[in-house]
Amino acid sequence: MKKKILIFCKLLLLSFFSYAQHAAIPSPKATGQNKWVSDPDYNLSASTISQLDTILQHLDEDTQVEFAIVVVDNFNGDDVFDFSLNLFNTWGIGKKDLNTGLLLFIAKDRRSYQFISGYGMEGLFPDIFLKRVGEKYLVPNFREGNYNKGVLEAVEFIEKVLRSPDSVSELQQMMPEAIPFWSLKSPILEDAAWWLLVLIIVYVYVHVVTTNLLKDEITKVSFLGSIFFGMGCMLALMFISIFPITFLLNNLDYVYKKEHIPYFIAILATLIITLKITDGRDLIIKTFKDEEDIDITLRKYLRRIYIPLLLTPIAWIDWVIISKRLNGNIGRFTPPNNDIDWERIKRSNTNAQTEKFLNNGQHKEESLKSRRYEIWQNTKTQALLYIPWNITNKFGRCPQCKYYTLLPNQNKTIYPATYTREGKGEKFNRCEYCNHIEHVSFYTIDKKTRSSTTHSSSGGGSSSGGSSSSSGSFGGGSSGGGGAGGRW
Ligand SMILES: [Zn+2]
Repeated sequence: MKKKILIFCKLLLLSFFSYAQHAAIPSPKATGQNKWVSDPDYNLSASTISQLDTILQHLDEDTQVEFAIVVVDNFNGDDVFDFSLNLFNTWGIGKKDLNTGLLLFIAKDRRSYQFISGYGMEGLFPDIFLKRVGEKYLVPNFREGNYNKGVLEAVEFIEKVLRSPDSVSELQQMMPEAIPFWSLKSPILEDAAWWLLVLIIVYVYVHVVTTNLLKDEITKVSFLGSIFFGMGCMLALMFISIFPITFLLNNLDYVYKKEHIPYFIAILATLIITLKITDGRDLIIKTFKDEEDIDITLRKYLRRIYIPLLLTPIAWIDWVIISKRLNGNIGRFTPPNNDIDWERIKRSNTNAQTEKFLNNGQHKEESLKSRRYEIWQNTKTQALLYIPWNITNKFGRCPQCKYYTLLPNQNKTIYPATYTREGKGEKFNRCEYCNHIEHVSFYTIDKKTRSSTTHSSSGGGSSSGGSSSSSGSFGGGSSGGGGAGGRW
């Protein structure tokens, strides 16, 4: 019995405190039945309050929705959700049977707002949309200190939706971003799925094209390689981009948010397809040893992946690289003097015979990548003709062996410099094939100087100036938990 009394007393006390807390906030109804706004600390202008009252009075008459607005500097209590829920129930907002009540509670000093909706509101204006209304209309305006504008915009939006015959589908149209990502109605999920579908189709297509072009060769085309590589690149990109985004925009949430998932998938798709296209190009070049085979296959490749290429701008680099190679080969496979008696010797690796057409000097030239020969044989006279291609400027012609294996401008120290006298060196060209040395010039090497031993200054103890950072500003815009509340 004693215990029961104690509990009763506690409850009484609690309800008293709860009453005392709310007693500080006057009900709008105290000033008139057509009043909907309680602004005891005068945060809103008189004209805003009168506009709000008009809108909300008509809303009540036309839709049976009771929408109360409370703006205070602060309140007694810890939790804005608990406090506003209590206020909602104390005042009894909403029609008794319909439970169509809505409360927007704003605590200015705490930079918190909270929507509380009655049970009947869920079918008219679901919580996720209330949350979005807060983020879209309240937070940005409140951050600028525009309390009148923020509240008016939010109320006007909610009013407009509630007045439409099917408010929820209206909301889905007007605020698609508020629909949860994993909902089938989510346009974000839909966009993301479309991008994934495009990615898969294009990827498989490029894979099939590459596999087909290489089907007679031993090279295996890896299916998943580019996907994993692309995902790795994407992760690295996202990780690296965190720093500039944090510094430049000071708001990671702005870039890395749910609504942007389709864009991220699009970027990932572009990246993966680009890598797949590059992979195909590399495989073709690696697989075929004869330049004419490479040329023909690359031309086919370009033709077949034309549309994937158009879709992936990063892959245009491959396009340029392939085109450069093909352009460099113009005229390479037509017989000398357009004479049909000349037959081109195929330079495939499987046919070791082609190697016998080259002598050691020419082999050396090719292995140094100084040039690459097209070998033509006359079918009538059996005469051989060597036409150099892919000529690099790195090597000169050796005056002794006449091959293009002369590595120019090598340096050699004849005697080194000391602290007292200059040294001497020689510049020369050397043949990589016959080791012929061709003198170019002598040069002097500067005398050595004793480096003045600079004492490394600062004997430690560098005070890393206690930067007065602690810029713990508000406005993180993170959700304030429970219901459809938030901060600004
Ligand atoms: Zn030589």
